[in-house]
Amino acid sequence: MSKNIFRKQLATFKSYVPGKPIEEVKREYGLDEIQKLASNENQFGPSPLAIEAIREEIDKINFYPEATAVDLVKDLASYLNVKPENVVVGNGGEGLIWVIAMTFLNEGDEILAADPSFDIYKISGDLMGAKTIKIPFVHKKFDFKSFVSNITENTKLIYVCSPNNPTGNIASKEEMDYLLANIPDDVVLILDEAYYEFAEEFDEYPSENIKLIASRPNTIILRSFSKIYGIAGVRLGYVVTSEALAAEMNKVRQTLGVNRLAQVGARAALKDEAYKKYAVEENRKAIDALEGYFASKGFDYFKSYSNFVWANINTHSKAVFEELQKRGIIIRPGFLWGWDNWIRVNTGTDRQMKLFIEKLEEVLNN
Ligand SMILES: *Cc1c(COP(=O)(O)O)cnc(C)c1O
Repeated sequence: MSKNIFRKQLATFKSYVPGKPIEEVKREYGLDEIQKLASNENQFGPSPLAIEAIREEIDKINFYPEATAVDLVKDLASYLNVKPENVVVGNGGEGLIWVIAMTFLNEGDEILAADPSFDIYKISGDLMGAKTIKIPFVHKKFDFKSFVSNITENTKLIYVCSPNNPTGNIASKEEMDYLLANIPDDVVLILDEAYYEFAEEFDEYPSENIKLIASRPNTIILRSFSKIYGIAGVRLGYVVTSEALAAEMNKVRQTLGVNRLAQVGARAALKDEAYKKYAVEENRKAIDALEGYFASKGFDYFKSYSNFVWANINTHSKAVFEELQKRGIIIRPGFLWGWDNWIRVNTGTDRQMKLFIEKLEEVLNN
């Protein structure tokens, strides 16, 4: 018998399955036009200031990026009212979730996360040999009582994705207070706020979680430029955490993990308040259209604080996904999370929302 050359966790490892690229679907179905409403991308973007900055930088891509992204980190720190030592930048929020796994997890450690939530929490933990305990939503809310009762000596990380992907709901201020009062200080609490800017305007959303870092140093706030600023393609995410945790994460992150275009694009996007306001407003219109449609059909859905809606269309999502795809619309089917009759559809322009509703009606009436 030959020896296993692979990391042992790979024997059972399941990697993330992203949606198919638009080009592939076009070719496969002979379509001219595709609306991809499957990956929560910003359909109104990119930020114009980011485009301009990236254009100016493009001639310099023969040179490596500046390793610590010092200017971007400074800009972020002043924007967020923290110190540069509190910020870690990475190759997208996803890249940072992998950095978190490598920084904190030993074999046998446990992760708590909601179910359904962002798959990368578990996937990154699986590779490190950690175990993820998934805690289902109850009445469309985080079951934080169950989070607390599932804490053991081995619990290392707690992921709270708020707004949550794929459901779009939040952990309210009250719910967060309960969780914070009932978890040990030596468990790392990660608040994934990839969709923060879409939720910020709501009173019930705890929009100042960054302040927790002072009183609870083992807390990490994760954010992304992919969703609100529409620059998912260049990859930029960041975390805000205590200096102690940031220092360890900075040891682990790839030295040149944030490319030149991402650095200048993010710096410019951060100043693009006009674009941010525009994206939030357009998103809210589209959420109202989607929720209005689902309500008019009597379909169950989670009230969305994000840029997508999670809805029960009373039909198997695999069939609906395939039929919509033939008609040029790509959504994310819920069966991937074990919610067979649910779909996740992200916001877009008025035209995209009309097309989605028209094609879904066609599919459901067949
Ligand atoms: C999109 C997303 C991220 C980060 O995405 P990046 O493009 O890698 O920055 C993180 N968490 C959740 C829940 C997301 O949906």
